[in-house]
Amino acid sequence: MTMPSAPTFAETAAEAWAPLTGWRARARSAARAARIRLAAMQQGPQTAPFVRCLYSHAVFSDTVPTFRAFLKAAKQEGEFVDTPTLRAIIADGKASDGRFFHLSFDDGFASVYEDGGPVMEEERVPYTMFVATDLIDADPETLNSYFAHMPAYRARVRTLDWPQAKAAAAGIGEIGCHTRTHARLSKISGDPVRLADEVAGARAIIERHVGQPCDSFAWPYGTATDIDDAGRAAIADAGFTSNFSAVRGAVRPGATDVMDIPRHQLEFHWPLHELMVWARGFREA
Ligand SMILES: [Zn+2]
Repeated sequence: MTMPSAPTFAETAAEAWAPLTGWRARARSAARAARIRLAAMQQGPQTAPFVRCLYSHAVFSDTVPTFRAFLKAAKQEGEFVDTPTLRAIIADGKASDGRFFHLSFDDGFASVYEDGGPVMEEERVPYTMFVATDLIDADPETLNSYFAHMPAYRARVRTLDWPQAKAAAAGIGEIGCHTRTHARLSKISGDPVRLADEVAGARAIIERHVGQPCDSFAWPYGTATDIDDAGRAAIADAGFTSNFSAVRGAVRPGATDVMDIPRHQLEFHWPLHELMVWARGFREA
């Protein structure tokens, strides 16, 4: 009889992210890198007002130097604000003469708290972690089924436990909701019981473990086709007061819907110049 093998996890970005395979993917990536380099040369530091939400997934020990360098560089151009401040900026529109960033992390990986947390504390950068509650203190089977749907990773990545989530929320972190199972809401909207469980159910789980109200939501996969009217209604009915997408774009105070806030994806194994290209609003509509 053999014992089930203990789960192993990627502890660095190099171990976690899958390399590109095939000449087409590599050619696309090279072309993209060239466009990014050109954009980096054309953009200057931001001096005009903006509000821009940035999100990522993990930090990892091997990307801490880039992460710290990025936060320092971004702080030269804008102030990082927490979600209640962001909501107020969007609602009143009056702060639109300022320059603001909002930073969040999806899915609930431990590296955000363990590797990124101290850096964000040091730099006084508030952050939100949108967690899929079944991935917190997860059993191996749940983790395996999550990563089976995520070809970007070549190894499983360790997720938070509830004490870490609670500790983050007691500091400068916020624990937001990203469903229970990382469900694609548009796929389950015909099942009102499942939908309520993934949205209101996940909120109740977070509040029970974290001991604070959970007001912010980000829908898994984040594009317009990953959510529909039933999903949006479930999020509003559950009492969330903001909802974030993964669609690149600027926040327009007074015009952006707080229940449909755009975000730019960044990953901290990307080079600093690329992180800054997105922080400066490359490819915004
Ligand atoms: Zn996600």
